[in-house]
Amino acid sequence: MVTEKMYDKLAELIVKKGANVQKDQPVVINASVRDADFIEMLAKYAYEAGAKYVSVEWSDSKIAKMGYQYQSIETLSDVPQHFYDKRKYQQDGGACFISIASGKPGEMSDVDSEKINAAAVAVYTKIADLISYTMNNEGQWCIAGIPSLEWAKVVFPDLPDDEAFEKLGDAIFAVTRVSEDNDPIAEWEQHDKELMEHCAKLNEYRFKELHFTNGLGTDLHVELVKGHKWAGGGCFTPKGVFFDPNMPTEECFCMPLKTGTNGMVYASKPLSYNGKVIKDFWFRFENGKVVDYDAKEEKDALEKLLNFDEGSRYLGEVALVPYDSPVSKSGVLFFNTLYDENAACHLALGRAYPENIECGEKMSKEELAAHGANDSMQHNDFMFGTADMDIDGIKEDGTVVPVFRKGNFVF
Ligand code: ZN
Ligand code: ZN
Repeated sequence: MVTEKMYDKLAELIVKKGANVQKDQPVVINASVRDADFIEMLAKYAYEAGAKYVSVEWSDSKIAKMGYQYQSIETLSDVPQHFYDKRKYQQDGGACFISIASGKPGEMSDVDSEKINAAAVAVYTKIADLISYTMNNEGQWCIAGIPSLEWAKVVFPDLPDDEAFEKLGDAIFAVTRVSEDNDPIAEWEQHDKELMEHCAKLNEYRFKELHFTNGLGTDLHVELVKGHKWAGGGCFTPKGVFFDPNMPTEECFCMPLKTGTNGMVYASKPLSYNGKVIKDFWFRFENGKVVDYDAKEEKDALEKLLNFDEGSRYLGEVALVPYDSPVSKSGVLFFNTLYDENAACHLALGRAYPENIECGEKMSKEELAAHGANDSMQHNDFMFGTADMDIDGIKEDGTVVPVFRKGNFVF
């Protein structure tokens, strides 16, 4: 059972380790009105850490949903200048951004997806030159979650409300490494260290490509970009502030060469997209591009995802997650990428992370593209790791090095 003390420890963990709030730094928290009690705890820890100010961007998903239902597509696409100015003011002041997830998966599933897409594109276009701040880790940011009843009922539809809520809470706190009697900050320091050691080994090998195989039928070659950098377990801002952007995180991730993926991949878990749950799907890649695909459920949603823009049929991320990670062991499908992507090896269709190539954070869009990085307005992770996943790393000279055997790291 999750106690008040555990919420307090989680708030402290997010402020001190996740966002690592610095003295005199502005703190911006994105939160739902349903989580006000927890946000107060966060604000208290942020001020105690020396925050210059704490500003909360409150949202109410039911009112947001009404906006999609009642507003015209023109109104939804009109992003006011003050929206841009506020964010610019916060970033110019060196703010760090904390987001607390607790929403109901699929809440917008019955909303016209044209409207959701139009609003998302409008926001993205308006603040395009501000996105690098978090995308390139120029300032700290952290996403973590707490349970809500609406979310719990999606994850455990057959349980009574209070039991479902309790089970989701237990799972979230366990995978975030917070318990009644542990020292979560010390555990996270150790965890970060282990992830970074795996990344360091992968970086030393300088693999040309990875070869994935398992019993589902996956047989996939993923070529990595030259000068690639495996990342995981937290990162540094240019000022040298270390932070953990995702809580939980279990992955070592890297940048595939846009045109370098070939073969078959079978998803091992459902994918939640625009409120639809796509099940039992596969892709066939040729020279980086998805050229064939199918899904047993919600094939239409999968098709929308693939056709979103030019880059949404190419990979932007390949991530290694051991099968014995806590999220995987929990056996819970959270219907939220923050958690589910840490349950298994995954790939992402869409935008690549500049941090996964040497000096990528200083490259222009054109330079990144010239190095083989994929670009898209979307980034959708899907899971393909299994208990029997084998991965070989293949070096430039053809040497084959075992990386995973039976779902876990060899080294
Ligand atoms: Zn990932
Ligand atoms: Zn991803």
